[in-house]
Amino acid sequence: MDNKTQQGTIGVTTENIFPIIKKFLYSDHEIFLRELISNAVDATQKMKTFASVGEFKGELGDLTIRVQLDEAARVLTISDHGIGMTGEEVDKYINQIAFSSAEAFMEKYKDRTNIIGHFGLGFYSAFMVADRVEVVTRSWKEGAKTVKWSCEGTPEYTLEEVADRSERGTDIILYISEESREFAEKSRIRELLDKYCKFLPVPIAFGKEEEWKDGKMVATDKELIINSAEPIWIKKPSELTDEDYRNFYRVLYPMAEEPLFHIHLNIDYPFHLTGILYFPKIRNNFEIQKNKIQLYSNQVYVTDSVEGIVPEFLTLLHGVIDSPDIPLNVSRSYLQSDSNVKKISSYITRKVADRLAEIFKNERADFESKWDDLKIFIEYGLVTNEKFAEKAADFVLVKNTEGKYFTLKEYEELVKANQTDKNGTLVYLYTNDTEAQYSFIETARAKGYDVLLMDGQLDNHFIGWVESKNQNLRFARVDADVVEKLIPKEESKNMTLSTAQQEELRPVFEAQLPSSDKANYTVSFEALDENDQPVLITRNEFMRRMKDMAATSGGGMASFYGQMPDSYNVVVNGNHPLVIDTLNQINATIGDELKKFDKKIDGIETQKKTIDDRINDQKPEEVAEEDRQLQEELGKKLTELTDKRTQKLQEAGKENKLVKQMIDLALLSNGMLKGEELTRFIKRSIELIEK
Ligand code: ADP
Repeated sequence: MDNKTQQGTIGVTTENIFPIIKKFLYSDHEIFLRELISNAVDATQKMKTFASVGEFKGELGDLTIRVQLDEAARVLTISDHGIGMTGEEVDKYINQIAFSSAEAFMEKYKDRTNIIGHFGLGFYSAFMVADRVEVVTRSWKEGAKTVKWSCEGTPEYTLEEVADRSERGTDIILYISEESREFAEKSRIRELLDKYCKFLPVPIAFGKEEEWKDGKMVATDKELIINSAEPIWIKKPSELTDEDYRNFYRVLYPMAEEPLFHIHLNIDYPFHLTGILYFPKIRNNFEIQKNKIQLYSNQVYVTDSVEGIVPEFLTLLHGVIDSPDIPLNVSRSYLQSDSNVKKISSYITRKVADRLAEIFKNERADFESKWDDLKIFIEYGLVTNEKFAEKAADFVLVKNTEGKYFTLKEYEELVKANQTDKNGTLVYLYTNDTEAQYSFIETARAKGYDVLLMDGQLDNHFIGWVESKNQNLRFARVDADVVEKLIPKEESKNMTLSTAQQEELRPVFEAQLPSSDKANYTVSFEALDENDQPVLITRNEFMRRMKDMAATSGGGMASFYGQMPDSYNVVVNGNHPLVIDTLNQINATIGDELKKFDKKIDGIETQKKTIDDRINDQKPEEVAEEDRQLQEELGKKLTELTDKRTQKLQEAGKENKLVKQMIDLALLSNGMLKGEELTRFIKRSIELIEK
């Protein structure tokens, strides 16, 4: 190149590219800084390579990349001591190649409003924020001259030799536009450097360190290096201590609690990926946040939205992933179908599962102590990721009401003998509320059964998963039925009450059921122990699960169940002395009346039977009209009488304070007696005591 200024036009089909660049990536303008600093880092790394292979024999000198800002003049300069460029190289890389790649990039994304990953726009992204860009550069090659390229965001540029720079390297000088003046603010540039450049391998300096002096912050004369934090994920796990991992976590999330575990990812083939993932400690379940994993490409921050790269359930983890092999300037849907990305995703899954298995095996006590926090991640993984489930089945734990932890295998061994029902089905009893279901838990434990605590956010799904994997296993919540029926066994107890006596008592108890639109109650009689409670209230497992599902999901079958009232069983203990007393009381008070009814009913039944028999013996056309009418009349009378009889029993039930008391006690023990009903119960109890 001669000494004259070269003037030129960039490319041929270029008229529209600058306006597009300016407008196009509106929300992502800030990435220009990442692009320019990445170029500076590349140029610096190349210099180091030349030196290490002996191609460059001089002094490398201070390789710090310096970002300088003149806020008033709105000039931002990025200076490096990398390889620099000769005039020919500027022509080739900036005027032709860089431009054509920017053009190709624009062409590719013209119709997209939402671009993910942005590498590729490169140097020209500077024009998103600058009216004018200058490149002052001097190649590392012997005898190279300093050249200056200048362009005002039009296809015209100038390229001339200058005397500005005496050392090897490049200054990129941006004259920040009026619209983009935010990028001429120190705080904004600092923020961007922290976001994108925190872990770059070459020191990046921006201004001076500050210190407190006489009540205010003043600049010292020490340069501020913004990337002093060490990107420990690029080191070998063997070189790092637990403390290093914890410290690094603090750099990433200064406000977070100590993590539970870390997992160091490190793979070279068939793709490159390094990183550290942390299981965070979650104080309450509402805190769960996705997008806490940061994705880097060769230590340059790219994004914190890793969906598609990391399996769904692991997006709850924290940490960093660094891979130059993840295509960045493509859409999400493309990303998910990319075979490399799929491999990365399954590698991460496997690695996480292996690490957990290892901790479980080697440090079980520690694993158990963290289980309550860890559980939500593992259950989420189990129910959503088949591959993970295969491995995690060995270390997923269940906890019983005594606070002991078991693997699924261990638990099966523990309860198999006692908790297999007469059909050979293994029944796991559980509670989701040890307070509310206290009496049920106690009854189950008195039978020698074990009760699991399932009060986690995903436990319902987990239960479904375990059942789907084991044909001969079902879970039953302790309050789903009376304990005899939760795990039905061969031997069945005798009931003092006969079937007829049960039918006598049914209307009596029905008369005292709570009335509500939101709940249905059904009375049934069971042969329980006479020391059990006289009345129990249970809730069918299947219906309850459907309702629970409706509450969390909605739509379809679930919402059908959601609209149905809750249904409860009011189980009357047919062996309890109080229940038998009730029957005796009823007989004492309305026994005579009932007998009168029975007599009448018997009479009519005999009459009706004669007619019924006669009619049954005849062909339909032979039946006399008289008989037919009589049959109908007797039928009506019979229903009337039985209805009246039932009514009598109900009336007696309504009067019976003992029945009400027994039902209320059952409601009370389920935490279902509230408000006015509770107050009445208390009053009635006092009256009963006073008697
Ligand atoms: P990419 O970095 O993806 O190749 P860019 O448009 O960012 O595309 O840059 C184009 C080329 O310009 C680079 O490949 C490099 O050869 C050259 N270049 C850019 N910045 C520098 C720099 N600071 N020092 C040396 N060369 C540079």
